[in-house]
Amino acid sequence: MSTDSDSAPVGPDFSQGVYASTIPDDGVFAGHVNGEAIIVARTSDGLVALGGACSHYSGPLHEGLRVGDTINCPLHHACFDLRTGRALKAPALAPVARWKVEEEGGKVFIRGALPDEASPSPALMADKHFVIVGGGASGFAAAQRLRQHGFAGGITMISSDVDAPYDRPNVSKDYLAGTAEPEWMPLKDDAFYASLKIELKLGVVVRSIDAASRSVVLESGGSLSYDKLLLATGAEPIRPSAPGFDQPHVHTLRSMKDAERVIADVTSADVVAVIGSSFIGLEAAASLRHRGARVHVIGPELIPLRSKFGPSIGTMIKALHEANGVVFHLGRRAEGYADGAVQLDDGTSVRATRVVLGIGVKPRLQLAEAAGLHIDGGVVVDTSMCSSDPDIFATGDIARYPGAHGQPARVEHWVLAERHGQVAAAGMLDIDDPFEEPPFFWSVHYDTTIRYVGHAEDWDAIREEGSVADKDAEVRYEKDGRVIAVATINRDMDSLKAAELLKP
Ligand SMILES: Cc1cc2nc3c(=O)[nH]c(=O)nc-3n(C[C@H](O)[C@H](O)[C@H](O)COP(=O)(O)OP(=O)(O)OC[C@H]3O[C@@H](n4cnc5c(N)ncnc54)[C@H](O)[C@@H]3O)c2cc1C
Repeated sequence: MSTDSDSAPVGPDFSQGVYASTIPDDGVFAGHVNGEAIIVARTSDGLVALGGACSHYSGPLHEGLRVGDTINCPLHHACFDLRTGRALKAPALAPVARWKVEEEGGKVFIRGALPDEASPSPALMADKHFVIVGGGASGFAAAQRLRQHGFAGGITMISSDVDAPYDRPNVSKDYLAGTAEPEWMPLKDDAFYASLKIELKLGVVVRSIDAASRSVVLESGGSLSYDKLLLATGAEPIRPSAPGFDQPHVHTLRSMKDAERVIADVTSADVVAVIGSSFIGLEAAASLRHRGARVHVIGPELIPLRSKFGPSIGTMIKALHEANGVVFHLGRRAEGYADGAVQLDDGTSVRATRVVLGIGVKPRLQLAEAAGLHIDGGVVVDTSMCSSDPDIFATGDIARYPGAHGQPARVEHWVLAERHGQVAAAGMLDIDDPFEEPPFFWSVHYDTTIRYVGHAEDWDAIREEGSVADKDAEVRYEKDGRVIAVATINRDMDSLKAAELLKP
């Protein structure tokens, strides 16, 4: 995932002292010590100083939005407690450093770091065993948050993926492009799981759930009993049933291993047909262009992403990809792949030596369905992510949760899945932390990042401020006289403010 900004130190050197009167009562004040970015804020606990770079992708926290005693990162909306540095909300999964603040002679000095805030000593429910099925965004976030809440029982995370939880959004972005180091991908290293006593069972498939005896049955044989179960099985790419899309050089893109297969298979001599002009298809197209392959994108919409963003942003994104050499075949569906060519529904064909499928995903609901959980296009959950079975929680791509204005929603976003996981962890421990926030995601196309808050499946009106073509815009989607979603380009503060406004 492109970091799309960094947090080079700005402002004065706190080791030399800064007049206390310059630190505002609200917001945060940016400076540095020995080249390290620092923010200082007046909070309900007094004057505090924290590292100024977000622990997720180094976003500049001084450009973020302060809400009470929290600061929200402008890049991907991570949220930190200003008093402790704790990462309250994903995508940040680690705290930011705390620094010691001293006031002398009307000046504020920072000369050294403080130790990280101690996590609570494990105490809760030591005799219980929680099982998490899924080692993706929400499964990982739930496991970590269970320990942060002090859960002292057993945690077993079972994942059919052979890799430990990793940064899935990067699978179609920098990792596929070859511009991300493999070390960037894991969310945490082995030592993390060992120190938090999270047992990882990788490459293991759960075949069924026996809700009556509270156990999960593994495909390899054997079963595991649980006191609480979290289902976080995500979604799987759709492979068209049309002829030829089961051939070896036809790829889907969900896991790190999928990306590695594409990387191993595609060279700069290849012509790749990307089927699907939505997020994953377009991100894959950009990454494969970076690798030097020729890329043709085939999609049914006349303007890519129009159904998600409306015509202006879709047109801008199309132009961006064309400027980078992508050839579009729009308003067209692929009907088969044979003899090195993809056949389109107008009788024409596109020659391609390789194919990448990006035509959408379907939630993995089989386990939940077989367990008899209430399903309505997703596993129906309440605001604590609890399903119709009080001992089974469901999060992320599979969850149908109470969204804005009580409308049930199922949304496939990374940050939302992580936050679902964090809320489910609280729910599994009977801690009140309801899920009450609008979805947020970002999408990167070459040098342009779009941030999006809310959820608009359709709208009555779109209002634009600024210029989408010039990549400086706020686009509001309205339904029944209400703003239901906001997309921004290079207006990060507006995106953060929209997230506050769209809170239920
Ligand atoms: C290539 C790609 C790029 C993306 N980019 C973005 C982006 O830029 N921004 C954004 O907001 N979202 C993005 N997304 C979507 C985002 O990654 C998902 O919404 C998110 O990962 C969902 O999290 P999850 O925990 O529900 O499921 P996942 O992260 O998919 O994890 C599901 C886990 O369940 C495991 N599993 C499934 N069934 C079983 C079983 N029976 N037994 C054991 N294990 C099982 C899987 O192996 C996996 O570990 C992207 C998705 C992809 C594929």
